[in-house]
Amino acid sequence: MTTRHAEIAGAGFAGLTAATALAQRGWSVRVHEKAPELRTEGAGIVLWNNSLQVLDAIGATHDLMSKSMTPPAYETRMNNVIRSQETLDGISWRTLTRPHLFATLLYAAREAGVEIVAGSTVRSATADGEVTLASGEKATADVVIGADGVGSAVRDSLAIPLERQRSRDGITRFLVPRRKEQLQALEPDTEWDNVIDFWNLEPRVLRVLYTPANDDELYIALMAPADDAAGSRVPIDLELWTSVFPQLAPVLEAAATVPGKYYGYQTTRVESWTRGRVALIGDAAHAMCPALAQGAGCAMQNAWTLAVAADETSDAAALPAALERWEQHERPFTDRCQDRSQHYADTREMANGNQFSGDVVETALYNPTDPRRHEVQHA
Ligand SMILES: Cc1cc2nc3c(=O)[nH]c(=O)nc-3n(C[C@H](O)[C@H](O)[C@H](O)COP(=O)(O)OP(=O)(O)OC[C@H]3O[C@@H](n4cnc5c(N)ncnc54)[C@H](O)[C@@H]3O)c2cc1C
Repeated sequence: MTTRHAEIAGAGFAGLTAATALAQRGWSVRVHEKAPELRTEGAGIVLWNNSLQVLDAIGATHDLMSKSMTPPAYETRMNNVIRSQETLDGISWRTLTRPHLFATLLYAAREAGVEIVAGSTVRSATADGEVTLASGEKATADVVIGADGVGSAVRDSLAIPLERQRSRDGITRFLVPRRKEQLQALEPDTEWDNVIDFWNLEPRVLRVLYTPANDDELYIALMAPADDAAGSRVPIDLELWTSVFPQLAPVLEAAATVPGKYYGYQTTRVESWTRGRVALIGDAAHAMCPALAQGAGCAMQNAWTLAVAADETSDAAALPAALERWEQHERPFTDRCQDRSQHYADTREMANGNQFSGDVVETALYNPTDPRRHEVQHA
């Protein structure tokens, strides 16, 4: 069989995962990244079994483990009173920094022989597999992948209808030094290796998600409603945040020195993830509220299953139908995850604690690399 070729828009977590999985199957792959440098935005990230299995399948686990951790528990507090401490037994999960995940994926992609072109913007794609770049260059591929994020040019150039739902809350994320000893001095009984979800709903909605990412770095996410000018301000209003969360003063002080960016929560749903030879993955297809920490997880799981589905179809003419079948099989898992994340964002129910049970952990437990996963699901 001749070597098959993929053109991918976007070197984010979705694009790099799909590129690596295809290249490891013998495809030639070119990834276009519009940013002049290859890097990621954001601070920390939580990964669950669904994405950890994919990282394992592309051979990236060793690198990932080197600078990530599984905290002893996920603790939820309301007004600094502990509501639950969930040890998440039976669920694989890791916390880490985004730069570390990005470096891990970039290394895997390069090892697999993926060509990555920084400073290259994809303007549009056609259903028969042609991409047009901002430079004017055109290229054809057996499969074109739109992994170009929530503002996807690939998606929009194909006029795929999109619904966008914005939520009332948003978040500012920081990577800061752990400062564990200073935190311990303020609250000696606290297990500062836990993820701690500090909620305050009355008199004002303010939340800090405290996530140790490794021995040295802490990821903190500060949530406030978009209409709270002081709560959503960046750099953060240190006086406001330390007045509500005095036990976090050492790390909030570090966060206040970082410019930061406030992200409003949003969910996007597209009519279809595919058009002919083009497939959308990641935020281009299904941006979601971060409540379940699954946006990147779903991006990587769908990137992996797309690569497998495309590779299993040896007849080039049959690829569009194979992509449609891929969407039919995989999309329901992501749709349900989006719905649950949206529900949590709308209701702020996570503040009640004891959240990791029942249907909610479906995506966290999912194994996209198990060829029998759909049989298991129906059993
Ligand atoms: C506050 C917050 C917290 C989150 N926490 C988590 C978490 O803990 N766990 C989790 O799994 N997910 C989390 N997410 C979600 C996660 O960050 C995203 O779902 C994920 O990064 C999407 O990856 P992506 O590759 O699809 O898109 P992106 O990361 O947006 O990457 C798209 C890439 O494409 C490039 N690009 C854009 N347009 C073009 C173009 N026309 N041509 C070429 N390149 C282009 C961009 O520069 C970018 O590099 C969180 C999100 C937010 C907002």
